[in-house]
Amino acid sequence: METKPKNKLFTVKKLLILSILAIFVSWYSFDLNQYVSLDEIKLLQQSSGAYIADNTATAMGIFFAVYIAVTGFSLPGAALLTLLGGGLFGFGYGLLLISFASSLGATLAFLVSRYLLRDWVESKFGSRLTAINKGIEREGNFYLFTLRLIPVFPFFIINILMGLTKIKTRSFYVISQIGMLAGTAVYVWAGTQLGELESLSGIVSPSMIFALALLGIFPWIAKFVLNIVKQKQKYAQWTKPSSFDRNLVVIGAGAGGLVSSYIAAAVKAKVTLIEKHQMGGDCLNTGCVPSKALIKSAHIVADIKRAGEFGIDAKVESVDFKKVIGRIHKVIATIEPHDSVERYSGLGVECIAGEATILDPWHVKVGDKTLSTRNIVIATGARPIVPGIPGLDSVPYLTSDSLWNLEQQPKRLLVMGGGPIGCEIAQSFSRLGSEVTQVEMAPQLLGREDKDAVAIVHDELVHDGVKVLVDSRVTGFKSIDGQHYAQLADGSKIEFDQVFLALGRQANVTGFGLETLGIEMTDRGLVDINEYQQTSLPNVYAVGDVCGPYQLTHVAAHQAWFAAVNALFGALKTFATDYRVIPAVTYTYPELARVGINEAEAQAKNLDVQVTKYEIDDLDRAITDSETRGFVKVITAGNSDKILGVTIVASNAGELLAEYTLAMKYKLGLNKILGTIHPYPTMSEASKYVAGNWKKNNAPEKLLTLVARFHTYLRS
Ligand SMILES: Cc1cc2nc3c(=O)[nH]c(=O)nc-3n(C[C@H](O)[C@H](O)[C@H](O)COP(=O)(O)OP(=O)(O)OC[C@H]3O[C@@H](n4cnc5c(N)ncnc54)[C@H](O)[C@@H]3O)c2cc1C
Repeated sequence: METKPKNKLFTVKKLLILSILAIFVSWYSFDLNQYVSLDEIKLLQQSSGAYIADNTATAMGIFFAVYIAVTGFSLPGAALLTLLGGGLFGFGYGLLLISFASSLGATLAFLVSRYLLRDWVESKFGSRLTAINKGIEREGNFYLFTLRLIPVFPFFIINILMGLTKIKTRSFYVISQIGMLAGTAVYVWAGTQLGELESLSGIVSPSMIFALALLGIFPWIAKFVLNIVKQKQKYAQWTKPSSFDRNLVVIGAGAGGLVSSYIAAAVKAKVTLIEKHQMGGDCLNTGCVPSKALIKSAHIVADIKRAGEFGIDAKVESVDFKKVIGRIHKVIATIEPHDSVERYSGLGVECIAGEATILDPWHVKVGDKTLSTRNIVIATGARPIVPGIPGLDSVPYLTSDSLWNLEQQPKRLLVMGGGPIGCEIAQSFSRLGSEVTQVEMAPQLLGREDKDAVAIVHDELVHDGVKVLVDSRVTGFKSIDGQHYAQLADGSKIEFDQVFLALGRQANVTGFGLETLGIEMTDRGLVDINEYQQTSLPNVYAVGDVCGPYQLTHVAAHQAWFAAVNALFGALKTFATDYRVIPAVTYTYPELARVGINEAEAQAKNLDVQVTKYEIDDLDRAITDSETRGFVKVITAGNSDKILGVTIVASNAGELLAEYTLAMKYKLGLNKILGTIHPYPTMSEASKYVAGNWKKNNAPEKLLTLVARFHTYLRS
């Protein structure tokens, strides 16, 4: 299957391109270039003197319009026109006219470039452009100002390139006008001496270029100094110790904290890890590990229920919920040593049990100890959101923190939330025998994923017995005579024994000193970090769920490397966290796995992409295993085989995703996947087949026609 989002403005663009081409063709066919010379400009000045004296306003208007047209369509001769402006109208009026005309013309060229080229450039170089756009967002005005001041950079190239970035049109105009003023003044003044000018090269001497360059660099120097002053001000209220006991103190021993301290110890830094509750944090104790262990038990039940399909007489007699929970705790205990104090102490990390409080940017208190440290990493994670719905306190509610201590399986479970956690838990409990109702406010479960992918997961949840209510909102809870009810916005009621809240996770940012430090937060209540994982106090870093943007174990671990390395070696070199290729999996049956963009995002951004799909019911191994529901969908850029994103729905989609994550990370396209041997019969062959579909859709038809003729010729 192949689809390409259509560009409705295509014809308008075509017309604009044709007009520009027509201007260029006429320019060169009428040899207008012959007039772009110093001698011609001098002649024009001499011959038009009388006309200008009689019709000054009209002459100014014509000059203004011509100047805008020349710069707007990036035609040659803007520098000569500037000289002419000085020669014709004198310094004052010349400067006034040209300053506005050049800025308007530059903005016109900028807009033409943005309109014609930006979408195309974005679809081709989208991921690389993101970094540039971020830089432009932060420093774009400075870059532009510097480029405008130094007349060695051709202005028409600056106009076109800036059009491809996300700089605001108004900023572009204002900065261009201010930035070009000095250079324009020099040229206009030179134009007032036009008669004596022998060549263009003398107008801007090397020393003049140097002076203008200095002027361009000045804002950077000013910014640099200002930054140092700001930093000093931020830290002014505290006294920095003259020496430190530690290089790094890490607060929180979840995925983010463990990896941060591991990296620090590996490079022989003195590092202390403080944990107030359980080593391993959320993932090991209340998140990924217990949920995946629960999913496995539920999966066994579902498999036994399907046994007849495979020719086996078997049925589920009963589910011993206590044993299911018991197994979950055994699984946690088996993995626990990986994250234990013993292991980390052996690696060279000083582990302290207790609640950490940050006293100032260099001191952390735990128990009666105060530790001094050069840098701090905040890895305090997040906790389940408990909404302020009326009556919630009067009913027995569970969160991912308390679920794993359940002694009895709820007969009727209400799951609030249709995100990955809500779906995994709803399906598992339903498979284990609870009557599950899942309520989601949005029109679909797993709101960020493609509709066709979610539809399969939704169907399976329903098939497993979950009553899925999308577009539904719980407005209140009530308990009457020991019976618990949820009131929905549409007036209906749901009876339940337990309600499980899966409504998102709130960062742990209070109660341990961030407020006193004045660490800045985002609108979503996360610790605000820059690309180096630094908070608003540069020696205090944050990783994982406490700062986002993705609340996933592997992202916390990924950020941890950057935080630790930047904290320990930032004086030598800093590394910006790389978010280009982030895989994520929802572990329902079937699993929904994704890396990069999906089809909906590509459409929303109006990217020029190809969507290639392979349905798994066609795959031999899927057929032998009766696991035929799902597909692999690959988004590629334009007509190239470059992979921008992959969505897989399949029983083991998470495992299948690894090949694409590697391919995207190391820029291997679908041709490379197609050329790789995949063992038969495996589910991984789906990757080869989707690459094959892409190849068929992009077959070189003309070449193949020639080849067919060649074969015909050989047969004749
Ligand atoms: C049910 C569920 C299933 C999940 N499944 C997956 C999955 O399959 N895959 C995936 O990638 N992610 C999954 N996640 C998300 C994953 O668990 C988190 O993204 C990950 O644990 C975040 O790690 P972290 O280091 O940021 O924080 P955490 O693991 O929460 O660790 C923070 C630690 O800081 C400690 N702490 C807090 N304040 C202090 C203080 N003042 N002093 C000392 N210690 C402190 C806490 O006790 C805690 O141990 C799941 C989450 C849940 C809830």
